[in-house]
Amino acid sequence: MSDAYDLVVIGGGPGGYVAAIRAAQLGLKTAIVEKRGALGGTCLNVGCIPSKALLQSSHHFEFAGHEFAHHGIKTTGLTLDLKTMMGRKDKVVQELTQGIEFLMKKNKIDYILGEGLITAPGEVAVKPAKKGDKKQVLKTENIIIATGSDVTPLSGVKIDEKRIVSSTGALELKGVPQTLVVVGAGVIGLELGSVWGRLGAKVTVVEFLDHILPGMDAEVSKQMQRILAKQGIEFKLSSKVTAAKASKAGVTLSIEAVSAEKGGGKKETLKADVVLVAIGRRPYTEGLGLDKAGVEMDDHGFIKIDEDFQTNVEGIFAIGDVIGGAMLAHKAEDEGVVAVEIMAGQSGHINYDAIPGVVYTWPEVANLGKTEEQLKEAGVDYRVGKFPFTANSRARCNADADGFVKILADATTDAVLGCHIIGPEAGDLIQEVAVAMELSASAEDIARISHGHPGLSEAVKEAALGVDGRAIHI
Ligand SMILES: Cc1cc2nc3c(=O)[nH]c(=O)nc-3n(C[C@H](O)[C@H](O)[C@H](O)COP(=O)(O)OP(=O)(O)OC[C@H]3O[C@@H](n4cnc5c(N)ncnc54)[C@H](O)[C@@H]3O)c2cc1C
Repeated sequence: MSDAYDLVVIGGGPGGYVAAIRAAQLGLKTAIVEKRGALGGTCLNVGCIPSKALLQSSHHFEFAGHEFAHHGIKTTGLTLDLKTMMGRKDKVVQELTQGIEFLMKKNKIDYILGEGLITAPGEVAVKPAKKGDKKQVLKTENIIIATGSDVTPLSGVKIDEKRIVSSTGALELKGVPQTLVVVGAGVIGLELGSVWGRLGAKVTVVEFLDHILPGMDAEVSKQMQRILAKQGIEFKLSSKVTAAKASKAGVTLSIEAVSAEKGGGKKETLKADVVLVAIGRRPYTEGLGLDKAGVEMDDHGFIKIDEDFQTNVEGIFAIGDVIGGAMLAHKAEDEGVVAVEIMAGQSGHINYDAIPGVVYTWPEVANLGKTEEQLKEAGVDYRVGKFPFTANSRARCNADADGFVKILADATTDAVLGCHIIGPEAGDLIQEVAVAMELSASAEDIARISHGHPGLSEAVKEAALGVDGRAIHI
């Protein structure tokens, strides 16, 4: 193996491996350094993929137990085989991570298993992950840092990944806890809370803010809370966890009300078999040698970059979770592609306003572009088109009619500014609006497109018609 590269990527997550493939396509001699022992990063190993595998399995279990009967399908003796469910999840992860390894080979990218340390611009030392392997020093024109993120710890609460778990431990529980407390009502907390709730746990979500899904459109967050509460999830909002004590019998959490008006300072304790800490993720740069290399970070530890994804040190670039913004796999991938294209002398651009975010609960939640609150704050004159799934024939056929599609458009130009969906397949439905936004389309453009009937996507068309007060089926 030659050790002179055009590009060395540190971190084999969706940002890193996609950047490496694009670089190889552009003819750059590329290596990727990953210390985990498998490619795919957080997303494939302990994030998007295992969580979605369990969401799918637990959704089937929930449906078989509670929904089939409405369709005239009777089940008796329904039981959970958690070991098989977990085994299936592990197999999906293994097959997909091996698939990435195959893609590295196919694109002639050197996959180097070990921990990368930037010793100087143009130089990466790799501490081997396998005992007995030799330390290597890679010379390279450019370096991309794609080292991602890690779980944000909660002061006073020690994660042991058994009783008090992070998302990683919550994907590996050996049994269904009778009671689960989720700290944090963000995407990860609600997804994993849903998994274990569907499998039989009594789930309570404790959230510091007075609403769930921070950053989402307020109407969405309110309705989603109602829907999840109907599914049996209990919420304790405006509450903070101050301490946790784990024992063999379970965990005792100390909780304090946050706001003075709502009895601020009021203390209580909560007992749970398992506690999931899901209060967010923070950039991961440990052991990379950034201080020595002189790479600047902001106050939160995110690597600072310019519009070309280059850090303050020439030839050192950064992408993905480690640079902040939306911590999403597809955002990391897009940045990987654009960073490499710019590096190779092409022009590249990302429209951060058209990056969808999806919560894979049931119903799903999807958001894109601006929320109503953001438009109000920015003083933008906008119009709203909203259509409920109760009026969509396909959703009624499917007995899956919770939620709505909401489209926000500029009051003068009719340009689509945002879209917020709660509903079946919301994560796929929103993609049509992402295309519209990327092409600077108007709500009228979406409304004039023929949508197959009876289809869930007709709700998107109706919401677009609704922007002009012309929805047909309501
Ligand atoms: C439970 C959960 C569910 C999620 N679900 C979704 C979802 O449904 N959709 C979505 O878009 N996003 C989801 N995410 C977020 C998504 O996983 C991240 O946004 C994405 O993985 C970021 O990609 P990345 O390439 O920036 O970093 P990562 O995927 O974090 O990859 C970084 C890699 O770098 C490696 N590394 C770090 N330092 C070094 C070093 N010095 N040398 C060598 N290797 C190193 C790490 O081992 C890691 O494998 C989820 C996250 C979690 C935790």
